[in-house]
Amino acid sequence: MALLLQPLIGDNETWLKPLRQLLPGEDIRIWPNVGNAEDIEFAAVMRLPDGKLAEFPSLRMICSLLAGQDILLSDPGLPDVPIVRTDDQEGSESMTTTVLVHVLRHYCQLPQYAAMQARGGWERLPHRWKKDTNVGFLGLGLFGAGAARRIAHEGFNVMGWSRTTKNVEGVTSFSGPQGLMEMLRKTHILVNLLPLTPETRGMVNREVLGALPKGASLINLGRGAHLRASDLYWALDEGILSHATLDVFEVEPPPPGERAWTDPRITLTPHVARLEYDIESTVLHIAKAINAIRGGQSLQGLVDRRRGY
Ligand code: NDP
Repeated sequence: MALLLQPLIGDNETWLKPLRQLLPGEDIRIWPNVGNAEDIEFAAVMRLPDGKLAEFPSLRMICSLLAGQDILLSDPGLPDVPIVRTDDQEGSESMTTTVLVHVLRHYCQLPQYAAMQARGGWERLPHRWKKDTNVGFLGLGLFGAGAARRIAHEGFNVMGWSRTTKNVEGVTSFSGPQGLMEMLRKTHILVNLLPLTPETRGMVNREVLGALPKGASLINLGRGAHLRASDLYWALDEGILSHATLDVFEVEPPPPGERAWTDPRITLTPHVARLEYDIESTVLHIAKAINAIRGGQSLQGLVDRRRGY
């Protein structure tokens, strides 16, 4: 039996060397060199072509190499085997750094001062203390909770919204539709770290943005499909948003001529919020999951297909 691996980044050897140490004797096949499809027992992949995973009759588990599960789950022929996440605190730490940089940048109104400089302007804008600045997180999962904790530690007033209420140090937890509106009404800086699911697609819409106090700012690090560009432009034009930082966009990269490229109230980054990808840690998760399934133990970090994350 064999493990099929689709290396996400780096060369094959960077994955194979630690995998061979952790799983001695394992037959590891590198996508697309599958060999006999009946041999594939485990697949550690980002996303194979539609229906491909269903061609492995002995498949027992999929290790998902991406943090967001939407891409893997969009395979209409995905076989009914457990899917295990492979990301962990290292990835979360990178994301936390990105969130911290963007929150501080918005807090210090650097985008507004950059735009002012471009116009040849020189004017002090009114300012808020950190303790009076409310940062609201959509999503308090691995990435959201880690970042929220850090932002709270920095002295901001931090809130977070999730499906279930959470106990994250220094973070006021909200859930449910009412909780969402309650959080949004107080939020000066909104950070989106939701997963993309049927429920959350297009969720950062006019109703959500319209609930923010005037002059709020948005940092979208989740998925582009959470936010329709037309709703974003509306919120900027209405003065609801003073600035938006988008690491993700509906179509990546945004098409030429898209307003987001040139609007001084929008900062674009090319889907780089998770700064680093730790192959060694991912490989450790793959080996742990394989050993667990072979040893009849329960699997950690299972993806819930029904919820979509
Ligand atoms: P998790 O699955 O760990 O957490 C998801 C969070 O969102 C949980 O708190 C969950 O609530 C909440 N949530 C999900 N659906 C709903 C809903 N319908 N209503 C309210 N809350 C909801 O995700 P991660 O933190 O690991 O990652 C979040 C996302 O970040 C990824 O899915 C990916 O899209 C994005 N990402 C972006 C990257 C980038 O480079 N820009 C890199 C990595 C990830 P509960 O805990 O109660 O279930």
